Amino acid sequence: MDATAYIWINGEFIEWSNATTHTLSHGLHYGSGVYDGIRAYKTKDNTAIFRLDEHVERFIFSSNAIKLKHGYAFDEIKQAIINTIKVNNLDEAYIRTLSYNGYGTLGVGVKNKTETVIACWKWGKYHGNTHPHGLDVKTSSYIRIHPKSTIVDAKICGHYVNGMLALQELDDTHYHEALMLDADGYVSECSSANIFVIKDNIIYTPKLGTILPGITRDFVIKLARDLHIKIQECNLTPIDVKNANEVFFTGTAVELTQMRSLDDVIIGNSKDYPIFNKLKDEFQQTVRGSNHKYNHYLTYVN
Ligand code: PMP
Repeated sequence: MDATAYIWINGEFIEWSNATTHTLSHGLHYGSGVYDGIRAYKTKDNTAIFRLDEHVERFIFSSNAIKLKHGYAFDEIKQAIINTIKVNNLDEAYIRTLSYNGYGTLGVGVKNKTETVIACWKWGKYHGNTHPHGLDVKTSSYIRIHPKSTIVDAKICGHYVNGMLALQELDDTHYHEALMLDADGYVSECSSANIFVIKDNIIYTPKLGTILPGITRDFVIKLARDLHIKIQECNLTPIDVKNANEVFFTGTAVELTQMRSLDDVIIGNSKDYPIFNKLKDEFQQTVRGSNHKYNHYLTYVN
């Protein structure tokens, strides 16, 4: 991780190396925090943040879901994010907003002061060295967090232990990602991205309920509809994934990344990904500011 100069903490810019927290903070012990991940891209004119409003809305939704009161209004968070990019002089950035139950006393139900953090840094490709034709994925033995155990739609820090365990199963193997199923055996999502499956020119994606409603997912659904490609939200099984012509993941960090194989079964012919490539091109043009139709999804930093 490349350090930048400043991190915004509770309204003030603190030097990166001084951006510390107390070891007895509630969030560290019980996962009682929420976060969001956002990307800013270099465009022809300026740096632009992709779907900033939707990310800030989700951040506030997540905070409310676990009753964290950070006290910042929507526009204040938006402006603080823009200022954090500016003060760090970045033309491209991954932005992380975080609110957590801070230091005071411990005990699961205790509410301490909410701490709020905005950091940004350069983060290139999320999956480093993969096969040029995409990710080799393994079906996880861990099931995705259950909607009756938590609020799946919220980006709660503690949820990520589920994805982390799924990835740890892949240590020392050739797999790059874990595909998690829900309690009924349907495809849910991977550790940090949503999944799309293409068969006979129709795109399928798991419906909401056991997945994080990804902001990139939502964009890809809109894009497909605008391009008159049929798209359906439905239940999918691992067999549907293995029999697909193309499969890809979406997320702020992974952007649009194709899947090469599931449990060592190669997807499609693994080289020819026409629909994926079309969607990826449109996405790249959008975030780089050259897809004018979707310019309203960009917030320019200057
Ligand atoms: N699912 C999970 C579990 C995630 O962590 C992410 C990343 N935020 C996504 C899906 C994709 O969401 P988005 O497109 O909003 O980044």
